[in-house]
This record gives sequence, structure tokens and C-alpha cells, in this order.
Amino acid sequence: MRQSELLVPTLREAPAEADAAGHRLLLRSGMIRQLAAGIYSYLPLGRRVLLNVERIVREEMDRAGCQEVLLPIMQPAELWEESGRYTQYGPELMRLKDRHTRQFALGPTHEEVVTALARDEVNSYRKLPFTLYQIGTKFRDERRPRFGLLRGREFIMKDAYSFAADWDELDRTYQAMNSAYCRILERCGLNYLRVEADAGTIGGQGETHEFMALADVGEDTIVTCKQCGYAANLEKAAFQSSLSAEHMEEKEEREAGEVSEVLRIATPDVRTIAELSSFLNKKPEHMIKTLLYLADGELVAALVRGDHELNEIALKQVLGAEELVLADEAALASHSQLAVGYLGPVGLGLRIIVDVDVAAMQQAITGANEAGMHLSGVRPGIDFALDRVERIRFAAEGDRCVACGEPLVFTKGIEVGHIFKLGTKYSDAMGAAFLDRNGRQCAPVMGCYGIGVSRLVAAIAEQHATETGIRWPASVAPYDVHLIPVSWKDEQQQKLVLELEQQLLDRGLRVLVDDRHERPGVKFKDAELIGLPVHIVVGRGAAEAKVELGSHQLALSGETSRIQLTAQEAITYVMEQIQHR
Ligand code: ATP
Ligand code: MG
Repeated sequence: MRQSELLVPTLREAPAEADAAGHRLLLRSGMIRQLAAGIYSYLPLGRRVLLNVERIVREEMDRAGCQEVLLPIMQPAELWEESGRYTQYGPELMRLKDRHTRQFALGPTHEEVVTALARDEVNSYRKLPFTLYQIGTKFRDERRPRFGLLRGREFIMKDAYSFAADWDELDRTYQAMNSAYCRILERCGLNYLRVEADAGTIGGQGETHEFMALADVGEDTIVTCKQCGYAANLEKAAFQSSLSAEHMEEKEEREAGEVSEVLRIATPDVRTIAELSSFLNKKPEHMIKTLLYLADGELVAALVRGDHELNEIALKQVLGAEELVLADEAALASHSQLAVGYLGPVGLGLRIIVDVDVAAMQQAITGANEAGMHLSGVRPGIDFALDRVERIRFAAEGDRCVACGEPLVFTKGIEVGHIFKLGTKYSDAMGAAFLDRNGRQCAPVMGCYGIGVSRLVAAIAEQHATETGIRWPASVAPYDVHLIPVSWKDEQQQKLVLELEQQLLDRGLRVLVDDRHERPGVKFKDAELIGLPVHIVVGRGAAEAKVELGSHQLALSGETSRIQLTAQEAITYVMEQIQHR
């Protein structure tokens, strides 16, 4: 390909709103452009990267025995009503009407469509198990589209759905998909972790794992144990809490019989834990946070220590609630007795769920349920009842691994893939059934498996970003080799470049030739931005068939960034590098 003919509008500066390194470079290297918030065009180079990622995903899905289909993006609302998700999905579901005013949704995921297909077409155990997949556009009206392709509103996903006669059969497919996902991410050159996850809104009755590309911009927190290899999303992470040294001292004091009494403290205009902490000069771990929730309409209180974060998923499970939302002002309007900002468990008059670490406190500072007042010396179990003690907080830095007791480590990750054992949630809701060996009607046991194809592009860009460009792994780079004549006007240089191009094309490589009449500095900067795995610079040495070669490999190994070679040696080098593609 001739660069003079390629639409690759490189930029010196990234638009101000681009806030992640990979996103900035995708824009600067002319790979993508934003059309609207979270909606992007792929320019030729970006499209090639996307196609390479798709190819890897497709090869691994086919290898795992999955069958490719293409399901409609535009889906009748009735289908979503059958599964109950037309309302449950909320504003993230893009909705539209046709000319007959029939309601449709733009697919954010395809469980409904694929389950309806199975219901109509599969009615015997003989046709099971099977797995369908597709690679296509999804729509989600995300509250916060961010970091370019990482969180789009229109994006490309590979979604797969498996149907099995029983859970054992599902297990086998799940394991095969798990291995396929590991291979995909390795082939994409990603540094990733597979973590235990929570089933979230898709729901389901079984195991679920997420695949996380490690990156600081990641919106997920991953909790790992270096000792035994435990890894989970923070939402799901199990832990043993570690009591602080001060806490232990307090405990000893109490054992020595020094129990203080409850004191009222005036704390005018002090509402948050942070404000209270600086006002009283006490650490948040000595305080109790009282949070009010509406659980299926009932107002309940949840207590966690001041330095801990409540885990709504855990609380929802504890309460067995369908819907759990933090009580806002409107919800509290009819409870004028509640002193918001000064809530506490003593005399609250609501059902209270107490976190394990709160129950273990000797004495605590809490709101006094009276504006401008707090209480100190409150003893859980004495000054208020511990009717329901549960684990309702997230793991925190310093907590220990449940398996081996080592301190847990926190890192940030980008969720690039997610596999679920759905069970019969959708087959039951939508009435999909098959006749088993004994002629009994059964619901197929389903699994679903998503991978963010466009998000993978963003995650690769993020992990391979440098100051000057993205160093694309050979497996996904838009071209294999960048041929850069210092001067295209120079006949000898042009001749050698064209010879090299032919030889590389003959070997099946994809070659980009910078045939522009630009200054060498401009060409080199653009080449860095575009970030192909190998650069061959043809300059004054052309007369003796000498070239300079630069590559990601050389840059990574810290050797001089370019080496002098003959043209033939350069070809041999390229072939060795690209073999690993
Ligand atoms: P997230 O928590 O990041 O919103 P999710 O749990 O909603 O993700 P799934 O419903 O499991 O995601 O979708 C499968 C895969 O699709 C995800 O693992 C992710 O890689 C990708 N994906 C989800 N939402 C987006 C998005 N808005 N933009 C790009 N990719 C996405
Ligand atoms: Mg989401």
C-alpha cells in the first residue's frame, strides 16, 4: 500500500477530551474518529486492526467448535418483554419505533434472539449440545461513554451462546470457551488475568469469569493473591478482614474492663465521614457509616465501618431483594424524622444489616439521629442490636486472602471478556424446551460468552502505548512492515524500496510504503505513531543495497533502536519476526 493514497490523518496533538494514552494514540495515528459520544468511525488502519482482532477471535471460536451466525440488531420489543428485560434493562437499551409505531430495541446482547431461535428450531436432545456465535455491532446507551473504544455506545462484540442437555455438558463447553478466551488474549499480545466475577444484570445460576486486561485506566478493580493465585473482581472478592493494631489495643482495653459510656458530641455542619474524621481528629475506621436503601420498596439501613465501602451486590443478596437502590431525597421525603447526614443505628427504628467488621468494633462514633449531633462510645451489640450480621462490604487494601491468609493486592483491569453459566434462566422464561432421551420435556442449559472486539483494540492500544506511538503486536498490526525511503525522489532509494516491497509481498507480508514527499523527520514521526512491528529505512546506503532496520523487538530489548543490514538480511530478519504472528 502506498501511504500517499492511504487515508491516515495523523495528528500532532490529540483532542483535549481524549483521556487515556491508548485512545489519544488511536486518534493521533488516524485510526479512528468520533462521530458522536461513544460512536466511532474506523479509518483504514483502524479497520485493519479491528479485522485482525476479529480474525483471531473467529479462528479460536471455530477451533472450539462454535458455529458462526449473524443475528438481527433490530429486535421486536415483545421478545424483550418475554424475558422481562424490556423494563429491567433500563435506559441503556436503545429503543425505537418503526413506521407502524411498533416498538423495537437495538440489541445490547442477544440472549433473547438466540433463545427464541433455539425454541423454534431445537426440540430434541439429539441436536444438543451446540454453540452459536456472531461478531457484530451492539448498542448500549451507556451513562458514561469513556476512553474511546473502551466504553462505546455503538461497539463490536463477539457473543456466543451455548445450549446443552445438562450442566455437565455445559461445563465442558464452558471449559472449552475458557481456553479459547485465553488463547485469544495471548494472541492479541495482552497482559491479562482471568478472575472470578459476579453475574450482574445478565443474571444466571452458575459460575462466571471475567478476563481482565491489566491497565491503570481500567474501570474494574481486581483483587489478587500473589501467594496462591486467587483472583477475583472486587465485586466478588472473598477476604478475611485484618483488624488494625489500634483495634487490637482497644480490644485489650475492653478486656481490662475499661468500657466508656456513650457520649453526645455536637458536630454542626459535619456530615460525611471525611468531614467527621477531620473534625474529631479520629480515623474513619473508628466510625460507622449508616446507609439507607430501598429494598423492593422497604427502607432498610446498612452499616459498614467508616473506612469500608458497602457492596450493593452482597447486600442485595443478603436481603434477597429484586431491586435495591440507595434511598435518595425523594425516598426519604416521607421519613422526616430521619436526620440525613447524622444517621446512626441507635434508636433508628429501621431494619438494620450490620457488616461483620462493624459487629466486631468495641466502640464507635456514629450519627445521633439528630441534626448536628454524633455519638461516641457506641458499642455494637450493647447500644444497638445485632440482629443481622453479614458480610456486606468490599475487600479493602490490607485484607487477607481467604485461602492462604496472605495480604491481597489490588490492581486495575479492563474487562475484555466475560463468560457465564446462565443455566435455564432464559430457556425457562422464553419457553425453550427439548425432549430428552426418555421423552421428557427439559429446558436447555445455556451459557453465554462475550468478548469486546472493539474494546480489545482499545486495550491492546492501551497496553502497547508509548510516548510516541502504539507498538502494535505483529498479530494485529495493520501492516507487517513499514518501508521508509528517506527521499522518495532519490531514484536509487525508490528502486530499492520497490524491490523490497515486491520481495516482502511475495512472501505473503503486508507492506506499507511511505512514498510521500515529506521530510524524513515527518515520516519517522508518523511511522512511530502508526507503530508497525518493523521499519526498514532506505537512505544513502541504497547504492550498496544497505538499509537501516528498526523494530519493536529491538526497542524492547534496549539495543540500539536501529541496526544496519543489507536488504537481504533485512528480509530474513522480518521473516523471523513475523513468523510469530
Ligand atoms: P462493563 O461492566 O464494562 O459495562 P458488561 O459487564 O456490561 O461490561 P457484558 O455484558 O458482559 O459487559 O458484555 C460482554 C463484553 O462486551 C464485555 O466483556 C466487554 O468486553 C464488551 N463491552 C461491554 N460493554 C461495552 C461497551 N460499552 N463498549 C465496548 N465494549 C463493551
Ligand atoms: Mg455494561
